[in-house]
Amino acid sequence: PVETYLINSLGTHNLVQYLVATNSEARFIFASTSEIYGDPKEHPQKETYWGNTNPNGMRACYDESKRFGEMVCGVHFRNFDLDTRIIRIFNTFGPRMNPEDGRVIPNFMTQVLGNQPLTIYGDGKQTRSLCYITDLVAGILAIGSSDEIKGETLNLGNPAEMTVLEIADLIKILSGISSPFVYKPLPMDDPVQRKPDITKITKVLGWEPKVTPKDGLSKTLAYFKDLASRQ
Ligand code: UDP
Repeated sequence: PVETYLINSLGTHNLVQYLVATNSEARFIFASTSEIYGDPKEHPQKETYWGNTNPNGMRACYDESKRFGEMVCGVHFRNFDLDTRIIRIFNTFGPRMNPEDGRVIPNFMTQVLGNQPLTIYGDGKQTRSLCYITDLVAGILAIGSSDEIKGETLNLGNPAEMTVLEIADLIKILSGISSPFVYKPLPMDDPVQRKPDITKITKVLGWEPKVTPKDGLSKTLAYFKDLASRQ
């Protein structure tokens, strides 16, 4: 947690201060996160929503320090005329995810392929919106390339919202393996729902996701299968 909050806060501060000190013309793209919306009371989440985070909860080292990083960008945009752009990245997945990083897609894929039960946290009715990696990269490149969006904050994600149970069911169908579910406690402050409003990025940059969760999950499953066969 200490490394996490220091990178997002002091790390961001050091980088933008370096750009100011060197009179750099560089564009500074801050990889922010949907986590800054916390457990959102507005749905879907627009960039104008201020969020609902718990400053003292177990996710705070990440979400509060990303909020701090956004503030650092805002200060350097307004007071130092730096070209900062904030991208609020929603849940992203794809080949080459670390099978042991603990997130939902690597967990479910390694579990289903290992004929293990799928671990559903809570009742599995919480939602996430899954963006495939190639769409995310295209969005980041579009944001970095545009001359029109200095100082802007943009959501980047796929609005195709699914419950965790729906994600688990789809992975089971795609794999053809009928692993059972095992229910585990919901982690503290796990957001109940999450879905990006992408009106702004679509209007400003013409970006929208091209890969459906189903197609993206198929490609990712193929990667995890290949990985398993090599171990
Ligand atoms: N989750 C789950 N089983 C797992 C891993 C995650 O049910 O084995 C749930 C988790 O509680 C959350 C959702 O899946 O509601 C997404 O979790 P992840 O850690 O991938 O992303 P984040 O919570 O940061 O959006």
